[in-house]
Amino acid sequence: MDLQEMKQETMDILSIIIPVYNEAACLETLFSRLLGVEKELGGKFEFLFVDDGSTDQSRDIIRRLAQENSHVRYVFLSRNFGHEAATTAGLDHCIGDAAVIIDSDLQDPPELIPELVAKWKEGYQVVYARRILRRGETLFKRASSWLFYRILRGLSSVDIPADTGDFRLIDRCVVHHFRRCREQNRFVRGLVAWTGFRQTAVPYERDHRFAGQTKYSPLKLIELAFDVMLGFSNVPLRLGILMGLLVCLICFGLIGVIVVQKLFFGIPIPGYALLVSGIFFLGGIQLLIAGLMAEYVGRIYQQVQARPLYIAAEKSSGLPPQETGWAETEPPAKTDRI
Ligand code: UDP
Ligand code: MG
Repeated sequence: MDLQEMKQETMDILSIIIPVYNEAACLETLFSRLLGVEKELGGKFEFLFVDDGSTDQSRDIIRRLAQENSHVRYVFLSRNFGHEAATTAGLDHCIGDAAVIIDSDLQDPPELIPELVAKWKEGYQVVYARRILRRGETLFKRASSWLFYRILRGLSSVDIPADTGDFRLIDRCVVHHFRRCREQNRFVRGLVAWTGFRQTAVPYERDHRFAGQTKYSPLKLIELAFDVMLGFSNVPLRLGILMGLLVCLICFGLIGVIVVQKLFFGIPIPGYALLVSGIFFLGGIQLLIAGLMAEYVGRIYQQVQARPLYIAAEKSSGLPPQETGWAETEPPAKTDRI
């Protein structure tokens, strides 16, 4: 049965969204494991591959899979737009009653999908997979990720669950509201958390990468961390006020000390060193805050430019021409499991 017929039959369809960037060595194995899960669950999957500008054989493999299996669809982006944009493209184009986002390098085991679905059937709209073990990842990555989530949860009013990746199941109604968020510097996990609804976790052990290298360099991770901090917390904006207050307090304290020394003990005021360090200290703080403001201005500028988040260069047949104007076009959620 093809996907359109399934939709007419109002069977529950599960969209599997797979962002791909130079993962030719993983795709075949990933797909065969996904097929195994589809069989176990009853054959109602849409496999939506989003190729994020791969330069290896990934696109050829995906095209071939689509020819061989009518449940495979794809969107090929016109260049590398980044993981967050590729995931967004998948969520924009999927047709399922729920969507599962899964990495293509097999670090997220497809065999966990039935557990995610079971929780969804219990009535949760977001079921995220929480990593209780991370195999094959560097100490830097594990330590920075651990610290990042703790700081983020401390600073942000949005309840972004710690130790989760993008591997999660999202109900159609959450997908609908997610599509209305069109911010440029995005963090899909944060946006999904921000939508609210009933959310729960399923623990899992993250595997080694099946083949190839991670696409996230430490610099890219830091950039992402910066995006998230500025996107989901107002604390950086208030840093200027906090630092200003701190400097004022230090200043008052110093003045007090100097006055007491001069008036009661007759100690001469040591001017030069204090003056120079004060100037440097204040200069540093001012530059820091100016830099932070510049970051916000840059982001406002990008948002005002309102460029599309990605450009789809090629799509498999039957996919709707969706990229913008989401708020009005999508019907309300079919499943209403609050
Ligand atoms: N990916 C992508 N675009 C990018 C970088 C990564 O679509 O610019 C995909 C990649 O193919 C993989 C997933 O996003 O399916 C996660 O990437 P990766 O495994 O490199 O990240 P890590 O697991 O090391 O954090
Ligand atoms: Mg990976």
